[in-house]
Amino acid sequence: MMTLQENYQQIVDDHRKYVDQGNTIDYTFRKQQLETIKKILKDYETEIYDVLRKDLNKPDHEIMLTEIGIIQNELEVAIKNLSYWMQPEKVASPLTHKGSKSYIIKEPLGVVLIIAPWNYPLQLSLVPIIGAIAAGNSVILKPSEHAPHTSDFLARIAEENFDPSYFTVVQGAAEETTELLKQRFDHIFFTGGSNVGKIVMRAASEYLTPVTLELGGKSPAIVDEDANIQMAAKRIVWGKYTNAGQTCVAPDYLLVQESVKFKLLKAMKKQIKSLYGKNVLQGENFSRIINLDHFNRLKAFLNSDHIVHGGEYNEEELVIEPTILDKIDWEDPIMQEEIFGPILPVLQFENIEDALALIKSREKPLALYYFGENPRMQSQVMEYASFGGGSINDTFFHLANPHLPFGGVGQSGMGSYHGKAGFDTFSHQKSILKQTTKFDFPFRYSGGTVTSNILKKFLS
Ligand code: NAD
Repeated sequence: MMTLQENYQQIVDDHRKYVDQGNTIDYTFRKQQLETIKKILKDYETEIYDVLRKDLNKPDHEIMLTEIGIIQNELEVAIKNLSYWMQPEKVASPLTHKGSKSYIIKEPLGVVLIIAPWNYPLQLSLVPIIGAIAAGNSVILKPSEHAPHTSDFLARIAEENFDPSYFTVVQGAAEETTELLKQRFDHIFFTGGSNVGKIVMRAASEYLTPVTLELGGKSPAIVDEDANIQMAAKRIVWGKYTNAGQTCVAPDYLLVQESVKFKLLKAMKKQIKSLYGKNVLQGENFSRIINLDHFNRLKAFLNSDHIVHGGEYNEEELVIEPTILDKIDWEDPIMQEEIFGPILPVLQFENIEDALALIKSREKPLALYYFGENPRMQSQVMEYASFGGGSINDTFFHLANPHLPFGGVGQSGMGSYHGKAGFDTFSHQKSILKQTTKFDFPFRYSGGTVTSNILKKFLS
Protein backbone atom coordinates (compact mmCIF):
# COMPACT_ATOMS: atom_id res chain seq x y z
CA MET A 1 0.00 0.00 0.00
CA MET A 2 1.16 3.51 -0.85
CA THR A 3 2.08 5.94 1.93
CA LEU A 4 0.40 9.36 1.92
CA GLN A 5 3.62 10.87 0.57
CA GLU A 6 3.86 8.32 -2.26
CA ASN A 7 0.22 8.90 -3.11
CA TYR A 8 0.70 12.69 -3.30
CA GLN A 9 3.91 12.26 -5.28
CA GLN A 10 1.99 10.10 -7.75
CA ILE A 11 -0.77 12.69 -8.12
CA VAL A 12 1.70 15.53 -8.73
CA ASP A 13 3.75 13.40 -11.17
CA ASP A 14 0.61 12.57 -13.15
CA HIS A 15 -0.35 16.25 -13.26
CA ARG A 16 3.12 17.32 -14.36
CA LYS A 17 3.13 14.75 -17.14
CA TYR A 18 -0.29 15.93 -18.29
CA VAL A 19 0.82 19.58 -18.32
CA ASP A 20 4.22 18.85 -19.93
CA GLN A 21 2.48 17.01 -22.76
CA GLY A 22 0.85 20.34 -23.60
CA ASN A 23 -2.73 19.18 -22.89
CA THR A 24 -3.75 22.37 -21.10
CA ILE A 25 -2.35 24.96 -23.52
CA ASP A 26 -5.01 25.06 -26.18
CA TYR A 27 -7.71 27.78 -26.11
CA THR A 28 -10.48 25.29 -26.98
CA PHE A 29 -9.42 22.97 -24.18
CA ARG A 30 -9.40 25.75 -21.56
CA LYS A 31 -12.73 27.10 -22.70
CA GLN A 32 -14.24 23.63 -22.58
CA GLN A 33 -13.14 23.18 -18.96
CA LEU A 34 -14.69 26.53 -17.99
CA GLU A 35 -17.89 25.49 -19.76
CA THR A 36 -17.81 22.24 -17.75
CA ILE A 37 -17.79 24.21 -14.48
CA LYS A 38 -20.71 26.26 -15.79
CA LYS A 39 -22.60 23.07 -16.57
CA ILE A 40 -21.79 21.63 -13.13
CA LEU A 41 -23.43 24.66 -11.47
CA LYS A 42 -26.61 23.85 -13.35
CA ASP A 43 -26.58 20.03 -13.25
CA TYR A 44 -25.70 19.78 -9.56
CA GLU A 45 -27.65 22.82 -8.37
CA THR A 46 -29.83 20.91 -5.89
CA GLU A 47 -26.80 19.21 -4.35
CA ILE A 48 -24.96 22.53 -4.05
CA TYR A 49 -27.80 23.95 -1.96
CA ASP A 50 -27.93 20.75 0.04
CA VAL A 51 -24.21 20.56 0.97
CA LEU A 52 -23.99 24.26 1.85
CA ARG A 53 -27.03 23.93 4.07
CA LYS A 54 -25.51 20.88 5.76
CA ASP A 55 -22.12 22.52 6.35
CA LEU A 56 -23.22 26.02 7.40
CA ASN A 57 -27.01 26.15 7.24
CA LYS A 58 -26.64 28.89 4.63
CA PRO A 59 -29.93 30.53 3.62
CA ASP A 60 -30.88 29.98 -0.04
CA HIS A 61 -30.55 33.60 -1.12
CA GLU A 62 -27.05 33.76 0.35
CA ILE A 63 -26.09 30.60 -1.55
CA MET A 64 -27.42 32.17 -4.71
CA LEU A 65 -25.75 35.54 -4.20
CA THR A 66 -22.44 34.78 -2.48
CA GLU A 67 -21.58 31.31 -3.75
CA ILE A 68 -23.22 30.42 -7.09
CA GLY A 69 -23.74 34.02 -8.29
CA ILE A 70 -20.12 35.03 -7.80
CA ILE A 71 -18.84 31.87 -9.51
CA GLN A 72 -21.22 32.44 -12.43
CA ASN A 73 -20.07 36.04 -12.89
CA GLU A 74 -16.44 34.97 -12.84
CA LEU A 75 -17.14 32.25 -15.40
CA GLU A 76 -18.94 34.66 -17.72
CA VAL A 77 -16.04 37.12 -17.67
CA ALA A 78 -13.40 34.38 -18.10
CA ILE A 79 -15.20 32.66 -20.98
CA LYS A 80 -15.89 35.95 -22.75
CA ASN A 81 -12.33 37.31 -22.42
CA LEU A 82 -10.25 34.13 -22.53
CA SER A 83 -8.97 34.46 -26.10
CA TYR A 84 -8.16 38.13 -25.54
CA TRP A 85 -6.32 37.41 -22.26
CA MET A 86 -4.31 34.66 -23.99
CA GLN A 87 -3.08 36.94 -26.80
CA PRO A 88 0.58 37.95 -26.64
CA GLU A 89 0.68 41.55 -25.45
CA LYS A 90 2.62 43.93 -27.70
CA VAL A 91 4.74 46.57 -25.98
CA ALA A 92 6.84 49.45 -27.31
CA SER A 93 10.59 49.17 -27.93
CA PRO A 94 13.06 52.04 -27.39
CA LEU A 95 15.04 53.63 -30.24
CA THR A 96 18.10 51.56 -29.35
CA HIS A 97 16.04 48.48 -30.37
CA LYS A 98 14.98 49.86 -33.75
CA GLY A 99 13.89 47.10 -36.11
CA SER A 100 12.83 44.74 -33.30
CA LYS A 101 9.44 43.94 -31.83
CA SER A 102 8.72 43.30 -28.15
CA TYR A 103 5.85 41.33 -26.69
CA ILE A 104 4.76 39.36 -23.62
CA ILE A 105 3.53 35.78 -23.79
CA LYS A 106 1.18 34.62 -20.99
CA GLU A 107 2.62 31.23 -20.13
CA PRO A 108 0.83 28.74 -17.83
CA LEU A 109 2.75 28.14 -14.61
CA GLY A 110 2.11 24.37 -14.58
CA VAL A 111 0.73 22.40 -11.64
CA VAL A 112 -1.12 24.60 -9.18
CA LEU A 113 -2.13 23.80 -5.59
CA ILE A 114 -5.21 25.61 -4.26
CA ILE A 115 -5.91 25.43 -0.52
CA ALA A 116 -9.39 26.62 0.43
CA PRO A 117 -11.13 27.58 3.71
CA TRP A 118 -14.56 26.55 4.99
CA ASN A 119 -16.55 29.81 5.09
CA TYR A 120 -17.50 30.03 1.39
CA PRO A 121 -16.34 26.52 0.65
CA LEU A 122 -17.61 26.37 -2.93
CA GLN A 123 -16.89 29.90 -4.14
CA LEU A 124 -13.41 30.09 -2.55
CA SER A 125 -12.51 26.79 -4.23
CA LEU A 126 -14.00 27.35 -7.67
CA VAL A 127 -13.14 31.03 -8.30
CA PRO A 128 -9.36 30.47 -7.95
CA ILE A 129 -9.76 27.33 -10.09
CA ILE A 130 -11.40 29.43 -12.84
CA GLY A 131 -8.30 31.69 -12.92
CA ALA A 132 -5.92 28.71 -12.87
CA ILE A 133 -7.77 26.83 -15.63
CA ALA A 134 -8.15 29.95 -17.80
CA ALA A 135 -4.40 30.47 -17.54
CA GLY A 136 -3.77 26.87 -18.73
CA ASN A 137 -2.70 25.14 -15.52
CA SER A 138 -3.70 21.85 -13.94
CA VAL A 139 -5.23 22.05 -10.47
CA ILE A 140 -4.91 20.12 -7.23
CA LEU A 141 -7.49 21.40 -4.75
CA LYS A 142 -7.33 20.90 -0.99
CA PRO A 143 -10.71 22.03 0.40
CA SER A 144 -11.38 22.54 4.09
CA GLU A 145 -12.06 19.60 6.39
CA HIS A 146 -14.47 21.84 8.34
CA ALA A 147 -16.98 21.88 5.47
CA PRO A 148 -16.95 18.11 4.81
CA HIS A 149 -20.13 17.92 2.70
CA THR A 150 -18.88 20.56 0.28
CA SER A 151 -15.42 18.94 0.22
CA ASP A 152 -16.91 15.55 -0.65
CA PHE A 153 -19.05 17.23 -3.30
CA LEU A 154 -16.00 18.94 -4.84
CA ALA A 155 -14.14 15.61 -4.88
CA ARG A 156 -17.08 13.97 -6.62
CA ILE A 157 -17.54 16.63 -9.31
CA ALA A 158 -13.80 16.44 -10.04
CA GLU A 159 -13.98 12.65 -10.47
CA GLU A 160 -17.14 12.74 -12.55
CA ASN A 161 -16.24 15.60 -14.88
CA PHE A 162 -12.47 16.00 -15.25
CA ASP A 163 -9.38 14.01 -16.12
CA PRO A 164 -7.79 12.97 -12.78
CA SER A 165 -4.40 14.20 -14.04
CA TYR A 166 -5.90 17.63 -14.65
CA PHE A 167 -8.18 18.42 -11.72
CA THR A 168 -7.83 16.43 -8.50
CA VAL A 169 -9.28 17.03 -5.06
CA VAL A 170 -7.14 15.94 -2.13
CA GLN A 171 -9.03 15.88 1.15
CA GLY A 172 -7.66 16.22 4.65
CA ALA A 173 -6.76 18.50 7.54
CA ALA A 174 -3.46 19.99 8.80
CA GLU A 175 -1.60 16.64 8.79
CA GLU A 176 -2.48 15.80 5.19
CA THR A 177 -1.88 19.38 4.01
CA THR A 178 1.55 19.38 5.67
CA GLU A 179 2.45 16.26 3.68
CA LEU A 180 0.96 17.66 0.48
CA LEU A 181 3.01 20.86 0.87
CA LYS A 182 6.20 18.79 0.72
CA GLN A 183 5.52 18.25 -2.96
CA ARG A 184 6.84 20.61 -5.62
CA PHE A 185 4.17 22.81 -7.22
CA ASP A 186 4.48 25.66 -9.70
CA HIS A 187 2.20 27.94 -7.69
CA ILE A 188 0.39 27.71 -4.36
CA PHE A 189 -2.80 29.70 -3.88
CA PHE A 190 -3.87 29.77 -0.24
CA THR A 191 -7.00 31.25 1.33
CA GLY A 192 -7.20 31.13 5.12
CA GLY A 193 -5.79 32.58 8.31
CA SER A 194 -2.39 34.29 8.56
CA ASN A 195 -0.87 31.65 10.87
CA VAL A 196 -1.44 28.90 8.32
CA GLY A 197 -0.43 31.37 5.59
CA LYS A 198 3.02 31.54 7.20
CA ILE A 199 3.24 27.73 7.25
CA VAL A 200 2.33 27.61 3.56
CA MET A 201 4.90 30.26 2.67
CA ARG A 202 7.60 28.47 4.62
CA ALA A 203 6.85 25.19 2.83
CA ALA A 204 6.77 26.96 -0.55
CA SER A 205 10.24 28.42 0.05
CA GLU A 206 11.75 24.93 -0.20
CA TYR A 207 11.34 25.02 -4.00
CA LEU A 208 11.00 28.82 -4.32
CA THR A 209 7.38 28.22 -5.33
CA PRO A 210 5.45 31.48 -5.78
CA VAL A 211 2.47 31.95 -3.48
CA THR A 212 -0.72 33.93 -3.40
CA LEU A 213 -2.00 34.43 0.14
CA GLU A 214 -5.61 35.48 0.63
CA LEU A 215 -5.78 36.14 4.37
CA GLY A 216 -8.02 38.02 6.79
CA GLY A 217 -7.78 40.73 9.41
CA LYS A 218 -9.91 43.34 11.11
CA SER A 219 -11.76 45.35 8.46
CA PRO A 220 -13.38 48.57 9.73
CA ALA A 221 -16.65 50.19 8.63
CA ILE A 222 -16.46 53.92 9.21
CA VAL A 223 -19.63 56.01 9.43
CA ASP A 224 -19.11 59.76 9.19
CA GLU A 225 -21.49 62.46 10.40
CA ASP A 226 -22.81 63.27 6.91
CA ALA A 227 -23.54 59.63 5.96
CA ASN A 228 -26.92 58.46 4.73
CA ILE A 229 -27.64 56.68 8.01
CA GLN A 230 -30.56 54.48 6.92
CA MET A 231 -28.62 53.21 3.91
CA ALA A 232 -25.43 52.74 5.94
CA ALA A 233 -27.34 50.76 8.59
CA LYS A 234 -28.84 48.41 6.01
CA ARG A 235 -25.59 47.78 4.17
CA ILE A 236 -23.49 47.32 7.32
CA VAL A 237 -26.02 44.88 8.78
CA TRP A 238 -26.05 42.91 5.53
CA GLY A 239 -22.24 42.94 5.24
CA LYS A 240 -21.67 41.94 8.85
CA TYR A 241 -24.29 39.24 9.36
CA THR A 242 -24.25 37.49 5.97
CA ASN A 243 -22.94 33.96 6.64
CA ALA A 244 -23.19 34.82 10.37
CA GLY A 245 -20.21 37.14 10.05
CA GLN A 246 -17.94 34.35 8.85
CA THR A 247 -16.75 36.42 5.90
CA CYS A 248 -13.15 37.53 5.45
CA VAL A 249 -14.30 40.96 4.23
CA ALA A 250 -17.16 41.44 6.72
CA PRO A 251 -16.96 44.72 8.64
CA ASP A 252 -15.12 43.43 11.69
CA TYR A 253 -15.85 46.54 13.76
CA LEU A 254 -17.76 49.78 13.43
CA LEU A 255 -16.24 53.23 13.86
CA VAL A 256 -18.93 55.86 14.05
CA GLN A 257 -18.82 59.63 14.45
CA GLU A 258 -20.22 60.25 17.93
CA SER A 259 -23.00 62.67 16.84
CA VAL A 260 -24.69 60.01 14.64
CA LYS A 261 -24.09 56.91 16.76
CA PHE A 262 -27.48 56.79 18.44
CA LYS A 263 -29.34 57.20 15.16
CA LEU A 264 -27.16 54.59 13.40
CA LEU A 265 -27.52 51.94 16.12
CA LYS A 266 -31.27 52.46 16.21
CA ALA A 267 -31.47 52.03 12.44
CA MET A 268 -29.24 48.95 12.55
CA LYS A 269 -31.40 47.23 15.19
CA LYS A 270 -34.43 47.84 12.99
CA GLN A 271 -32.61 46.44 9.98
CA ILE A 272 -31.51 43.30 11.84
CA LYS A 273 -35.13 42.59 12.75
CA SER A 274 -36.36 43.22 9.25
CA LEU A 275 -33.61 41.25 7.45
CA TYR A 276 -33.40 38.22 9.74
CA GLY A 277 -36.78 37.95 11.45
CA LYS A 278 -37.57 36.47 14.84
CA ASN A 279 -36.45 32.87 14.47
CA VAL A 280 -32.72 33.27 14.03
CA LEU A 281 -31.95 31.08 17.05
CA GLN A 282 -33.90 28.25 15.44
CA GLY A 283 -31.57 28.58 12.45
CA GLU A 284 -34.20 30.18 10.21
CA ASN A 285 -32.70 32.41 7.53
CA PHE A 286 -29.36 32.62 9.35
CA SER A 287 -26.12 30.64 9.00
CA ARG A 288 -24.71 28.72 11.91
CA ILE A 289 -21.19 28.87 13.34
CA ILE A 290 -18.99 26.30 11.66
CA ASN A 291 -18.10 24.24 14.78
CA LEU A 292 -18.12 24.18 18.58
CA ASP A 293 -14.56 25.54 18.89
CA HIS A 294 -15.43 28.68 16.94
CA PHE A 295 -18.80 28.91 18.74
CA ASN A 296 -17.06 28.88 22.15
CA ARG A 297 -14.43 31.38 21.00
CA LEU A 298 -17.23 33.77 19.94
CA LYS A 299 -19.37 33.12 23.02
CA ALA A 300 -16.50 34.42 25.17
CA PHE A 301 -16.97 37.87 23.56
CA LEU A 302 -20.58 38.12 24.70
CA ASN A 303 -20.12 40.37 27.69
CA SER A 304 -23.54 41.54 28.88
CA ASP A 305 -22.22 44.97 29.94
CA HIS A 306 -21.70 45.86 26.30
CA ILE A 307 -24.59 44.12 24.54
CA VAL A 308 -27.04 46.61 23.04
CA HIS A 309 -28.64 44.15 20.64
CA GLY A 310 -28.80 40.34 20.43
CA GLY A 311 -26.37 38.34 22.55
CA GLU A 312 -28.53 35.21 22.76
CA TYR A 313 -27.29 31.89 21.41
CA ASN A 314 -28.37 28.30 20.81
CA GLU A 315 -25.50 25.94 21.54
CA GLU A 316 -27.25 22.90 20.13
CA GLU A 317 -27.75 24.55 16.74
CA LEU A 318 -24.46 26.50 16.94
CA VAL A 319 -26.28 29.77 16.31
CA ILE A 320 -25.42 33.18 17.73
CA GLU A 321 -27.86 36.06 17.25
CA PRO A 322 -26.76 39.12 15.28
CA THR A 323 -25.18 41.06 18.12
CA ILE A 324 -24.01 44.64 18.64
CA LEU A 325 -21.58 45.54 21.43
CA ASP A 326 -21.35 49.23 22.28
CA LYS A 327 -18.75 51.27 24.21
CA ILE A 328 -15.85 49.11 23.12
CA ASP A 329 -12.22 50.26 23.46
CA TRP A 330 -9.28 49.47 21.22
CA GLU A 331 -7.77 47.51 24.15
CA ASP A 332 -10.76 45.16 24.63
CA PRO A 333 -10.12 41.47 23.81
CA ILE A 334 -12.58 41.58 20.89
CA MET A 335 -10.36 44.21 19.24
CA GLN A 336 -7.26 42.00 19.41
CA GLU A 337 -8.24 39.34 16.86
CA GLU A 338 -10.37 38.87 13.75
CA ILE A 339 -13.91 38.18 15.05
CA PHE A 340 -15.25 36.07 12.17
CA GLY A 341 -18.72 35.81 13.68
CA PRO A 342 -22.00 37.75 14.08
CA ILE A 343 -20.75 40.14 16.76
CA LEU A 344 -20.15 43.80 15.90
CA PRO A 345 -18.17 45.96 18.33
CA VAL A 346 -18.87 49.69 18.10
CA LEU A 347 -16.25 52.38 18.71
CA GLN A 348 -16.89 56.07 18.30
CA PHE A 349 -14.72 58.95 17.13
CA GLU A 350 -14.85 62.72 17.24
CA ASN A 351 -12.50 63.51 14.34
CA ILE A 352 -12.16 61.29 11.30
CA GLU A 353 -8.41 62.10 11.20
CA ASP A 354 -7.95 60.50 14.63
CA ALA A 355 -9.93 57.44 13.58
CA LEU A 356 -7.83 57.04 10.43
CA ALA A 357 -4.60 57.45 12.40
CA LEU A 358 -5.69 54.62 14.71
CA ILE A 359 -6.51 52.37 11.78
CA LYS A 360 -3.15 53.21 10.23
CA SER A 361 -1.30 52.30 13.42
CA ARG A 362 -2.67 48.72 13.20
CA GLU A 363 -2.14 45.89 10.71
CA LYS A 364 -3.41 46.62 7.19
CA PRO A 365 -6.93 45.18 6.90
CA LEU A 366 -8.32 43.18 3.98
CA ALA A 367 -11.12 45.70 3.50
CA LEU A 368 -12.28 49.15 4.61
CA TYR A 369 -15.72 50.70 4.19
CA TYR A 370 -16.41 54.40 4.38
CA PHE A 371 -19.90 55.86 4.69
CA GLY A 372 -20.10 59.60 4.07
CA GLU A 373 -21.34 61.96 1.38
CA ASN A 374 -18.43 64.39 1.00
CA PRO A 375 -16.45 63.43 -2.14
CA ARG A 376 -13.24 65.06 -0.89
CA MET A 377 -13.39 63.06 2.34
CA GLN A 378 -14.27 59.88 0.42
CA SER A 379 -11.11 60.23 -1.68
CA GLN A 380 -9.01 61.16 1.33
CA VAL A 381 -10.05 58.06 3.28
CA MET A 382 -9.57 55.73 0.28
CA GLU A 383 -6.13 57.15 -0.48
CA TYR A 384 -4.78 57.67 3.04
CA ALA A 385 -5.65 54.34 4.65
CA SER A 386 -3.94 51.15 3.44
CA PHE A 387 -6.15 48.08 2.94
CA GLY A 388 -6.73 45.30 0.39
CA GLY A 389 -9.84 46.80 -1.22
CA GLY A 390 -13.10 48.34 -0.14
CA SER A 391 -16.19 50.38 -0.84
CA ILE A 392 -17.54 53.88 -0.40
CA ASN A 393 -21.09 53.78 0.98
CA ASP A 394 -21.25 49.98 0.85
CA THR A 395 -19.69 46.93 2.45
CA PHE A 396 -18.24 43.86 0.65
CA PHE A 397 -19.97 44.32 -2.71
CA HIS A 398 -16.63 45.27 -4.29
CA LEU A 399 -15.54 41.63 -4.25
CA ALA A 400 -18.47 40.63 -6.42
CA ASN A 401 -17.20 42.77 -9.31
CA PRO A 402 -15.03 40.45 -11.43
CA HIS A 403 -13.35 43.48 -13.03
CA LEU A 404 -11.77 44.50 -9.70
CA PRO A 405 -8.69 42.57 -8.48
CA PHE A 406 -9.35 41.04 -5.08
CA GLY A 407 -6.58 40.54 -2.50
CA GLY A 408 -4.94 41.81 0.66
CA VAL A 409 -1.90 43.89 1.52
CA GLY A 410 0.61 43.44 4.34
CA GLN A 411 -0.76 40.96 6.90
CA SER A 412 -4.05 40.60 5.00
CA GLY A 413 -2.35 38.88 2.10
CA MET A 414 -0.28 39.10 -1.06
CA GLY A 415 -1.31 38.81 -4.69
CA SER A 416 -4.80 39.02 -6.09
CA TYR A 417 -7.37 37.25 -8.25
CA HIS A 418 -10.88 37.57 -9.77
CA GLY A 419 -11.31 38.18 -13.49
CA LYS A 420 -8.17 39.17 -15.39
CA ALA A 421 -6.22 39.43 -12.11
CA GLY A 422 -6.83 35.69 -11.58
CA PHE A 423 -5.60 34.88 -15.07
CA ASP A 424 -2.46 36.98 -14.49
CA THR A 425 -1.79 35.44 -11.08
CA PHE A 426 -1.63 31.98 -12.62
CA SER A 427 0.43 33.06 -15.66
CA HIS A 428 4.10 33.76 -16.17
CA GLN A 429 4.68 36.93 -18.17
CA LYS A 430 7.33 35.79 -20.61
CA SER A 431 9.13 38.73 -22.24
CA ILE A 432 10.18 38.25 -25.85
CA LEU A 433 12.25 40.44 -28.15
CA LYS A 434 12.01 39.58 -31.85
CA GLN A 435 15.02 41.10 -33.61
CA THR A 436 15.27 41.96 -37.27
CA THR A 437 17.93 40.35 -39.45
CA LYS A 438 17.51 42.93 -42.19
CA PHE A 439 20.04 45.33 -40.65
CA ASP A 440 22.26 45.61 -37.65
CA PHE A 441 23.39 48.63 -35.65
CA PRO A 442 27.11 48.35 -34.93
CA PHE A 443 27.18 50.57 -31.85
CA ARG A 444 26.51 47.94 -29.21
CA TYR A 445 29.34 45.64 -30.32
CA SER A 446 32.51 47.65 -29.91
CA GLY A 447 33.96 50.89 -28.48
CA GLY A 448 35.56 53.82 -30.25
CA THR A 449 34.56 57.50 -30.28
CA VAL A 450 32.15 57.24 -33.23
CA THR A 451 30.21 54.41 -31.55
CA SER A 452 30.12 56.24 -28.22
CA ASN A 453 28.83 59.40 -29.84
CA ILE A 454 26.03 57.53 -31.65
CA LEU A 455 25.13 55.73 -28.42
CA LYS A 456 25.02 58.99 -26.48
CA LYS A 457 22.68 60.44 -29.09
CA PHE A 458 20.34 57.47 -28.87
CA LEU A 459 20.25 57.49 -25.11
CA SER A 460 19.84 61.24 -24.66
P1 NAD B 1 -7.35 28.13 8.12
O1 NAD B 1 -6.12 28.92 7.87
O2 NAD B 1 -7.53 27.47 9.43
O3 NAD B 1 -7.51 26.94 7.02
C1 NAD B 1 -7.38 27.18 5.65
C2 NAD B 1 -6.88 25.90 4.99
O4 NAD B 1 -5.60 25.56 5.51
C3 NAD B 1 -7.78 24.69 5.19
O5 NAD B 1 -7.90 23.98 3.97
C4 NAD B 1 -7.03 23.86 6.23
O6 NAD B 1 -7.23 22.48 6.10
C5 NAD B 1 -5.59 24.20 5.96
N1 NAD B 1 -4.76 24.11 7.16
C6 NAD B 1 -5.16 24.30 8.46
N2 NAD B 1 -4.11 24.14 9.30
C7 NAD B 1 -3.04 23.84 8.53
C8 NAD B 1 -1.66 23.55 8.82
N3 NAD B 1 -1.20 23.55 10.06
N4 NAD B 1 -0.83 23.28 7.78
C9 NAD B 1 -1.30 23.29 6.51
N5 NAD B 1 -2.60 23.54 6.20
C10 NAD B 1 -3.45 23.81 7.18
O7 NAD B 1 -8.55 29.12 7.78
P2 NAD B 1 -10.10 28.85 7.94
O8 NAD B 1 -10.42 28.73 9.39
O9 NAD B 1 -10.52 27.78 7.02
O10 NAD B 1 -10.67 30.25 7.39
C11 NAD B 1 -10.75 31.39 8.17
C12 NAD B 1 -9.65 32.38 7.84
O11 NAD B 1 -9.55 32.54 6.46
C13 NAD B 1 -9.96 33.77 8.39
O12 NAD B 1 -8.78 34.35 8.88
C14 NAD B 1 -10.43 34.53 7.16
O13 NAD B 1 -10.27 35.92 7.22
C15 NAD B 1 -9.59 33.91 6.11
N6 NAD B 1 -10.24 34.05 4.80
C16 NAD B 1 -9.69 34.87 3.87
C17 NAD B 1 -10.33 35.04 2.66
C18 NAD B 1 -9.77 35.93 1.59
O14 NAD B 1 -10.27 35.86 0.48
N7 NAD B 1 -8.79 36.76 1.87
C19 NAD B 1 -11.51 34.34 2.40
C20 NAD B 1 -12.02 33.50 3.38
C21 NAD B 1 -11.38 33.35 4.57
